Amino acid sequence: MARLGWVSQSQSDHSEHRHKSGFETRAIHAGYEPDPTTGAVQPPIYATSTYKQDGVGGLRGGYEYSRSANPTRTALEGNLAALEEGERGFAFASGLAAEDTLVRALCRPGDHAVIPDDAYGGTFRLFDKVEKVWGLEHSPAPVSDPQQVRAAIRPGQTRLVWVETPTNPLLTIGDIAAIAAVAHDAGALLVVDNTFASPYLQQPLTLGADVVVHSTTKYCGGHSDVVGGALVVRDLDLAEKVAFHQNSMGAVAGPFDSFLTLRGLRTLAVRMERHCDNAERVVDFLSGHPGVAQVIYPGLSDHPGHEVATKQMRRFGGMLSFRVNGGEAKALQVCERAEVFTLGESLGGVESLIEHPGRMTHASVAGTDLEVPADLIRLSVGIETAEDLVADLDRALG
Ligand SMILES: *Cc1c(COP(=O)(O)O)cnc(C)c1O
Repeated sequence: MARLGWVSQSQSDHSEHRHKSGFETRAIHAGYEPDPTTGAVQPPIYATSTYKQDGVGGLRGGYEYSRSANPTRTALEGNLAALEEGERGFAFASGLAAEDTLVRALCRPGDHAVIPDDAYGGTFRLFDKVEKVWGLEHSPAPVSDPQQVRAAIRPGQTRLVWVETPTNPLLTIGDIAAIAAVAHDAGALLVVDNTFASPYLQQPLTLGADVVVHSTTKYCGGHSDVVGGALVVRDLDLAEKVAFHQNSMGAVAGPFDSFLTLRGLRTLAVRMERHCDNAERVVDFLSGHPGVAQVIYPGLSDHPGHEVATKQMRRFGGMLSFRVNGGEAKALQVCERAEVFTLGESLGGVESLIEHPGRMTHASVAGTDLEVPADLIRLSVGIETAEDLVADLDRALG
């Protein structure tokens, strides 16, 4: 379909980049070929809303109007599909926009979804305050236990089983292949929010998931400079439904945001390796510190999800949490004393972030089953010099 520099997704299905190349090669090349008119090796930012037609209906490369498709977004969508080993990718204005589009593409009022009992707060709010009003019911289940997920399914009514792994902020691990079997037995689809792992560390579609969701705001973009979301699917009928809803609901990623997200994806593999290296260094340091009561990281052999994480993840990621001796006051003090670790929400950028979930990202679940310990600190370990990160935490812990 595409005649200029970008590769349509159906063409890229057959390209070497999709099925033969390694992850890093796909990250750098999939979704776009150098523009034949200029040779530009990266996709231009196509800041255009509409496209000249060569006679009525004579579209060039299929482009008609930028809500429906924009070449910069096409390049990003093709790249995301290749990285997740799916058939089609879709880029949205935010992770939550992607989620809402997916839910309304696949569910109807009266349907039911099973969601993680420690879902990302925005996802829980979307199901509980927005989709519920619209008629979609939901039940929580722990992703760490496929049997409890099975028990939460309402046969004939459950359309979606939604999983995050690792979860936030306690880094609980769900067995994607086992939960896929449970969902499919009941005629439901498995959706995996792969934001924490990124496609470099884990590819849920290859483990049986039907849809991957990303907040590309996090590791995919990777530089804390853009908000975005994505869906990747492997089934073409599902892709048609998502494409119809993406265009009908209109929460698409703009060309500038698509450009930034794609630029982030180019270096995802090398960034993730360094995130993992640095997280391991920080875990080592914290594990030996007398002021630390517990370190929570799926790479630790005492983590309850360690075995499953080893099976389905390449490495264990850049996110970790720890509990301090001295209660909430001490935890708040550590967060405020850190300097290289910036006190802030979000995650997955090149810079290290520290936060107190109980007072910040998870304040809204205080008093519910989802409440997190008051002495818990969450780190998004960035790619700075590891010694500087360790020294910063040493100073902050006092
Ligand atoms: C941030 C986040 C989201 C929501 O994405 P936005 O881009 O903020 O809309 C969804 N899931 C997880 C796991 C997240 O961390």
